[in-house]
Formats: sequence, structure tokens, C-alpha cells
Amino acid sequence: MSSPKFRKADQYYEDQYDSRTISSMKEKEDEWTAKLKLITNEDELLKKRLVAYMDIREYGTRFSQNKRHSIQEWITTDERKDRLVNERPIPPPPYCPKCDSYMKFSDYDFVNNNCDIQFIFSCGGKTKHNAILESNGKPLTAPKQFCPYCNGVIKTKVKKTKTKITATDSCTICTWSDTIYFDIQPKQQLLPISEEERKAYCTDFKKSKGFLHDLEVLASISAGDDTGYDLSKIKMLKVADLDKILTEALQKNQFIKLQFEPPKITGHMTIHFSTLDTSERTEQQSIKTLKKIISEALFFSNWRLMSTEINYRLGYLTGQLKGVDQKEDLQKIATEINTTP
Ligand SMILES: [Zn+2]
Ligand SMILES: [Zn+2]
Repeated sequence: MSSPKFRKADQYYEDQYDSRTISSMKEKEDEWTAKLKLITNEDELLKKRLVAYMDIREYGTRFSQNKRHSIQEWITTDERKDRLVNERPIPPPPYCPKCDSYMKFSDYDFVNNNCDIQFIFSCGGKTKHNAILESNGKPLTAPKQFCPYCNGVIKTKVKKTKTKITATDSCTICTWSDTIYFDIQPKQQLLPISEEERKAYCTDFKKSKGFLHDLEVLASISAGDDTGYDLSKIKMLKVADLDKILTEALQKNQFIKLQFEPPKITGHMTIHFSTLDTSERTEQQSIKTLKKIISEALFFSNWRLMSTEINYRLGYLTGQLKGVDQKEDLQKIATEINTTP
């Protein structure tokens, strides 16, 4: 019998990885499609689409970043298996007293993270007469155990499915039992790959024209590609201008004493602000009104309200504004301006 070759052609691993990527990405998309379908509120939908977009993009990026490394690992493992098979000849078969004959070699097994080889022998057919020999040719036997309660002899039953081996130890005297599971690595089965899908999900999923692209358009954001919208439409406000515009808009609506904290600069600029609501509005109304005033006042500018950050306490409101001046961020704003009816 000639030894199996574990190491396959490079293309095999490439296909294997891509086919996993494709099915995982599709699953992810389906998940999001189902989730988005349930949302009826327009604002909520817009927000969730953005979240979906980012999530899928990150997911896809992880696949493409891990690709080389994973493939290299698979190749190393398969090459090690070939080496082990070559270095360790199949030991002489064990004798089966039930069949009164010698067992036949049936398969290799690799343990300890695929660093060690074992040999599986069986009597063939559907008999459950199996034996595992270790790499030194000695049979692998579980140490005999006794019941922790009554010291009775323990019997082990093994059940094997496609994905799992279940080994149940049970006492032959009392009701004690214990079950352990081993996961079986699914046999590497390659799904047929469509080159179109490979291109969409693996080769250049960033430029994908599929689901991700639709989401991107719907969420009115740009992945950094030129949107073609006119950036000069955006009013570039300095912090002093921001102060003036907002103070005016807020005062008209009974919000007074707008104050800014010193800005923080990371990729963009964020500024914490506070203001007092002098009206009779409830907490919810107050927050809602503040969001509306600021969003409208800044809509054509390079500033945005971080609307999740608003806090209210006894008429004292705090929040955060974000200012951008980088082209990529400005393009997102330009898209928003141009796609908002
Ligand atoms: Zn047998
Ligand atoms: Zn017992």
C-alpha cells in the first residue's frame, strides 16, 4: 500500500481558504439582511446599515489578512504529516481475539497538534473491533478506572458521528456516569468555487459591487473612493465660527450658555460642549430638540453632532461635536449632503 500524500498542490490550499471565506461572508451577509429587514424606522435603518457595512468590511478584511498565514500553516501541517508517515512505518497488526485473526491497518491519526502519529487498525466491515497503536507500535489503552462513588468497574461506550466522538464512562454497579466529547475536524471537502464569487469576496472585496457596495451607497458613506461630489459645498467652520452659529441657533430655542471644553485632536477634532435648557421641556424633548437644532445648523458644515453622546441632567445638557478636515471624511459629508432629500 502506498502512503497517502497529505501535501497537495498550492492551488488546493488557495481554493480551500477562498471557499471558506466565501461561505462565511455569505452567511454574514444573510445575517445582516435578515436583521435589516426587521427595522422600520428610517433613521435607525440608516445607522444599522452603517454598522452592517463596517462589520462586513471588517470581517472580510480579517479573512484577507489571515490568508497567507493560514495557508502556510496548513501546508506546514500537511508536510509534517508526510514526514511522520515516512519516518514511522506501519507497525505489525494487533491480534483480535474475537475474530481470531489479525486486524488490518485502516488509517493514520495525528495527535498532539498534528505532531505525533497513531495507527488505527480494525477488523473491517462494520465490526467495532478497533485498535489504536501509538507511534512506538504499542497499543493505546485507557487506564482502567473505577467509579469514584462505589469503586465499581467503569465501562466506556464510544459513539462516533461525523463531527463528534462521544465517550461515556459509566459505572457497572451504580448510576455514576461521565461523558466527554471530542470534536472531529471535518474532512476537508472543497466546495466548488465560482470565480465571480472569488473576485467579489476574496480578491478585491473592497471594490465589490455586491451586497457590500449596495450597503455603502444606502448608508451614504464612502469607503474612501472618490464620490465625485463637490466638496466646496461644505462650509469649513473654525471653532470660533462653530461657537457663533450654535449659540445663535440654540438661543432661539431657549438653550443658553453654550460652552466648549478644549478640543481633543485625534484623526479628527472632538469638542465636548454643554448648554442649559431654560424651557419647560422634558428630558426626552430637550435631548430631541437639541439634536435637531445642532444637526440642522451644522448640516452643510464640516462638523457633526455625535448624537449618541448627549447627556441630560436637570436641564444641563452635555454632548460632543466632531470636526473633520480630511478629504475622506469630507467626502462622506458631501455624500450625505447630496443624498439627503
Ligand atoms: Zn475483530
Ligand atoms: Zn459506581
